[in-house]
Amino acid sequence: MTGTEASGARAQNFIRDIIDADLQSGKHTRVVTRFPPEPNGYLHIGHAKAICLNFGLAADYGGACHLRFDDTNPETEDVEYVDAIQRDIRWLGFDWADKLFFASDYFDEFYEHAERLVQRGRAYVDSLSDEQIREHRGSLTSPGVPSPYRSRSPDENLDLLRRMRHGEFPDGAHVLRGIGNLEAANMKMRDPLLYRIRHADHYRTGRKWCIYPMYDYAHPLSDAIEGVTHSICTLEFENNRELYDWVLAACETAARPQQIEFARLNLGYTVMSKRKLLRLVEDRRVDGWDDPRMPTLAGLRRRGVTPESIRAFCDLIGVARANSLVDVGKLDFSVRDDLNRRAPRVMCVVRPLRVVLDDIPPGQVEEFEAPSFPPDVGKPGTRRVPLSRVIYIDRDDFQADPQPGFHRLAPGREVRLRYAGTIRCREVSTDSRTGEPLELRCSYRPGAGDGGEASGGRAGKGVQGVIHWVSAEKSLACEVNLYDRLFTAERPDDGADVVAQLNQHSLDAVTGCRVEPSVLDAPIGSRFQFERLGYFTLDSRSGAAGALVFNRVIALRDSSARGRVESAQVAGEVEAPRQKSAKADTRPPRKSRAEVRERLRERSPELTAKLERFTGELALDREQAELLSSDLDLAAFFEESVAAGARPAAAANWVLNELVGQLGGRALDALPFGGRQLGTLVRLVEDGTLSSAGGKEVLTEMLAGAGEPEMIIERRSLRQMSDTSTIEPLVDQVIAAHPDHVTRYRAGKTGLLGFLVGQVMKASGGAANPERVQELLRAKLG
Ligand code: ATP
Ligand code: MG
Repeated sequence: MTGTEASGARAQNFIRDIIDADLQSGKHTRVVTRFPPEPNGYLHIGHAKAICLNFGLAADYGGACHLRFDDTNPETEDVEYVDAIQRDIRWLGFDWADKLFFASDYFDEFYEHAERLVQRGRAYVDSLSDEQIREHRGSLTSPGVPSPYRSRSPDENLDLLRRMRHGEFPDGAHVLRGIGNLEAANMKMRDPLLYRIRHADHYRTGRKWCIYPMYDYAHPLSDAIEGVTHSICTLEFENNRELYDWVLAACETAARPQQIEFARLNLGYTVMSKRKLLRLVEDRRVDGWDDPRMPTLAGLRRRGVTPESIRAFCDLIGVARANSLVDVGKLDFSVRDDLNRRAPRVMCVVRPLRVVLDDIPPGQVEEFEAPSFPPDVGKPGTRRVPLSRVIYIDRDDFQADPQPGFHRLAPGREVRLRYAGTIRCREVSTDSRTGEPLELRCSYRPGAGDGGEASGGRAGKGVQGVIHWVSAEKSLACEVNLYDRLFTAERPDDGADVVAQLNQHSLDAVTGCRVEPSVLDAPIGSRFQFERLGYFTLDSRSGAAGALVFNRVIALRDSSARGRVESAQVAGEVEAPRQKSAKADTRPPRKSRAEVRERLRERSPELTAKLERFTGELALDREQAELLSSDLDLAAFFEESVAAGARPAAAANWVLNELVGQLGGRALDALPFGGRQLGTLVRLVEDGTLSSAGGKEVLTEMLAGAGEPEMIIERRSLRQMSDTSTIEPLVDQVIAAHPDHVTRYRAGKTGLLGFLVGQVMKASGGAANPERVQELLRAKLG
């Protein structure tokens, strides 16, 4: 995938289809949307999706997008959040011009409508307790029972409503309810709550009110008051749409906005509920709302993520009607893609190991001119990198006793210093207590030109690899915050408690790092690529003794990919089992290969470790585990697919049977996708998003370079509808429409299940996952 694809023209989606039709039919002449945050927390990446959508539509259709604070709940709202939300929307790159509104400004108007509803006999004051109201409402299978107060006269209701408003009653004594339909299949329509009593301070209206409107009442009225045409919200509100329309009709508003639902953003390894994020802040699990590990816009900003990459991400994921979990790799991709073109390269040594270059006399400093960007980025700029007798390299780039597959510095070995000459390790002094290397003495052989971008970063003949380094005397001290995912589970919301899913190692704050001097005057917020390490930003807070502090935005690539590169040599000795399918394999019997695998494993503790992990932790059967651990490349590919959320046994099957069969001798690195994408595909088949035949079609397209599985599924409309929240309303609808069948089924005619499944399938246009439909029907029919 390329950057242009990620940030290119916005794709058509079902909301645009609706708007196009409305403009064409003359229903509307102008598009007005709104973004309606409740000021009870900071905005997060999920809100970014809604912001990009609403402001994006308004911009594209030449309309307006209102920023409206949905502040009808006095207990949780605060002006701190109002300010933060405005700051974050601006930062993201959107502007509401003079269209800034507060639902609390409409309290008078809401109330006038309420009096009229009562006078017209469309609402009543109920004096049941919350508990009693719940009981009277009935269930999905039984109708509601009228409240004894439902028949109060309009005059009595009006009197009670006015006294509610004037504070004569305590919290909970009465509520205002619409007169709906107690038999409606949609529970929201069974006499909806419109107002409740709350003696509380509101951050804007203070003590003026002690009754507050419910969301379902305030929201449609706010939209109508502002002349919103398309009121876009997330799928959880699908059932509320009927009520939304009821309120507008009952209040006889002039404007009739249309509510449209889309799938909210759910992102792997992330929680997106403000309540849960607030808890992390209050319990000090993180360093405030803008902690760089938080999925808030403020956190992402401090992390060093650019608004452009968040917008590109929102374009990339698109807008759909079915809920799904978005692979966090998509966000990572957008962030890297943007920073690659933006962040100048510098060298930083995070865990320094002192190296004395005997061939350079003390006091001598040589400077190399190094490009700020590689040729493929095509941006100008250079910086000067000084080399002196004493340098630092990263401790990870040296092994006293090198493991197989390690291609950097070791005793007697030669590596290239990026942009400079080569060094050979002649002597190691070690800490006698810990055995850790303290200092290396190396010879230095000049000969620049290699190891820079011009040579593709290659080391040169006889040289192990290229490493980064800094001059000891000319470099600057700095601290580096290495951030990792905040949660260990891909769906941290699934468990009982998100706190239990917190990654205990989500922050590694490293002091005593050294960075090249070219960053000296960089302003706060500058972003760099630390070569070979990742993207970093200069933090707004400086560290101990005024040291520079850098936050890692993101590593260059998944660490497993690095293992793959290092394994290239070992893997080169043997062919991966690339043609597992029987008909493709015309070669001599396998025996020799099994032997080669065995031999390789003897030489490589890494491969042995893989085999152990695959048979142990991942519980693969022996044959699959052996095949997958015959090659570090293949093993890494497989592990990436597991890391992307695929069940290990399923991923193993797809890698060995579907993928390897279709490779036709191509190497894994030559594929237009990686293990992560395959893992995503496997997961989508496993969770029923896609049938397995559909999965194979998608794989064929992926092999042809068609891009991310989700995009292919969307483009080819291969998605099965599996989400409960989407199927459930259809199931309810079918149950309500076929009372006879339901009664007979319950009486033991279970064969009728097939008929009901068929009806739901029909209602879904054939898109529902039949297994999910059956499950839901069974559960509901008891
Ligand atoms: P929470 O449940 O965490 O409190 P919310 O949806 O109640 O979130 P609001 O402040 O009401 O938060 O959200 C403002 C707008 O942002 C709403 O229109 C909502 O639909 C949208 N939104 C919230 N979360 C997401 C998400 N994860 N993906 C897309 N849109 C979202
Ligand atoms: Mg909300």
